[in-house]
Amino acid sequence: MDYKRLREAMVKTQLVPRGIRDPRVLKAMAEVPRHLFVESSRQQLAYEDMALPTADGQTISQPYMVAVMTELLELSGTEKVLEIGTGSGYQAAILAELSRAVYTIERYDDLTEQAAGRFRDLTYTTIFLKTGDGTLGWPEEAPFDRIMVTAGAPDPPQPLIDQLAPGGILVIPVGDRNFQQLLRIRKNSDGLTRELHTPCMFVPLIGRFGWDAG
Ligand code: SAM
Repeated sequence: MDYKRLREAMVKTQLVPRGIRDPRVLKAMAEVPRHLFVESSRQQLAYEDMALPTADGQTISQPYMVAVMTELLELSGTEKVLEIGTGSGYQAAILAELSRAVYTIERYDDLTEQAAGRFRDLTYTTIFLKTGDGTLGWPEEAPFDRIMVTAGAPDPPQPLIDQLAPGGILVIPVGDRNFQQLLRIRKNSDGLTRELHTPCMFVPLIGRFGWDAG
């Protein structure tokens, strides 16, 4: 399978026509080997226009959604980033290509371990991960210049807003348990600004400042 060609086709047919413009985001999407973040039986589907299952009934997001959320973060390369919902680790790898350091939290230990193995194999040295309730953020490492939540929340968790640096950006899907819209929050000197973006469907953010597990 010529994965490099499939990646380039993914960028050309799924991302550019839908309005992804940031050249750094397009480059990262064309370079990170997404097929190494999915189960081996699904590698041939890795560059298709869809989300795919991971362990524990969770998902690796559709490439377009990864690109949209990444573009909304406006990364220049110097930022310290927090991601909630490591899942396969693919989004964290994209973020690592575009920032100074990535801290990522996953609530399932086996997903954290699998992602850690992938980061080791692919020699990512600027991604730090842990298992836990990401709705609490990572206070010991705060503040963060950027925060991305890759699971659907009823509202932005207050600890994440608190851990956002001045001038920082938080991107999070908000809505009900099945259907959400991307929300971008900027922390300015005079308060928070909020903009709604693309409609989306994420698995629920489960935790103290998210949904109940039930
Ligand atoms: N970013 C992932 C990737 O690139 O594969 C996709 C994430 S998947 C759509 C959402 C993930 O969020 C799931 O793995 C789920 O277990 C995790 N999750 C849900 N609630 C969480 C929480 N409170 N803290 C950390 N992770 C959480």
